[in-house]
Amino acid sequence: KQFREGLEKTRKGFAQKVSDLIIRRKKIDEEFYEELEEILIGADVGVNTVMTLVDELRAEVKKQRIEDAAELQPILSRKLMELLRSDDDNRLKENPDGITVILFVGVNGVGKTTTIGKLAHRYKQDGKKVLLAAGDTFRAGAIEQLEVWGQRAGVDVIKQSAGSDPAAVMFDAVQAAKQRSVDVLICDTAGRLQNKSNLMEELNKIFRVIQREIPGAPHEVLMVLDATTGQNALAQAKLFGEKSGVTGLVLTKLDGTAKGGIVVAIRQELNIPVKLVGLGEKMEDLQPFDSEQFVHALFA
Ligand code: GDP
Repeated sequence: KQFREGLEKTRKGFAQKVSDLIIRRKKIDEEFYEELEEILIGADVGVNTVMTLVDELRAEVKKQRIEDAAELQPILSRKLMELLRSDDDNRLKENPDGITVILFVGVNGVGKTTTIGKLAHRYKQDGKKVLLAAGDTFRAGAIEQLEVWGQRAGVDVIKQSAGSDPAAVMFDAVQAAKQRSVDVLICDTAGRLQNKSNLMEELNKIFRVIQREIPGAPHEVLMVLDATTGQNALAQAKLFGEKSGVTGLVLTKLDGTAKGGIVVAIRQELNIPVKLVGLGEKMEDLQPFDSEQFVHALFA
């Protein structure tokens, strides 16, 4: 799915409401701003961000002496792009001299396995040799689920039995990647946030193994967040994100929410770029994030 199709719900639940407001009120007055704030907060843009955004709109309206509400739309689009940091580098980093290692972290159920499968598929389409590492040895069924995605995408999965040491799985995976001249090694990890300190230890151990075997790796640590959980996703990201060396965010299930404004809130509150977005359940439904495309798809 492309942005336009994937953002259908947010377009109806947010952008369409803004357009309706502009047509209905025509003039920019206090009530206009109040209603706009309500729409933005309703789309999960986050209260702080909404206040800043509306203040900036007010300033712009004053400066340019705008009266007609219709003239506000392009300004709003531009401000949203700014808030989404259109200057971010959203590309996934690659290792120019060998195996690129990408580590996935995130709480169970957010769409981590699905995203790994989709990303494997993307790299394969690009002609890369991909290998998956089943590093979630904790959750029942996680290894099998990754294998299902591996089959779908046509890539091998390195695994051990359930309950084994994830760092040992990573060691095996790195060796296999070297032997098989793999371009991209994508690693799953356990997502049990309730046991945070253990999880951090586990992650650190995984980091050490990977770093020792491939200098400069991992090249990306991607945290997966479920956009349909709104402010909850933001709370998770704050709790987990900045300390664990996360280099990029993946927002899944954007197709399943009318509150896509959460992307803006998350980007504002965390100093980590959004690199990928999930726009559906199928293998093709993963897109590199692009703030311009995102905002255009909303108001198109
Ligand atoms: P994990 O526990 O984090 O590995 O989560 P899964 O990958 O098993 O995904 C949980 C559920 O979310 C599954 O039913 C997926 O099909 C669904 N899912 C994942 N990504 C997306 C997405 O971008 N859009 C939609 N609509 N569903 C998704």
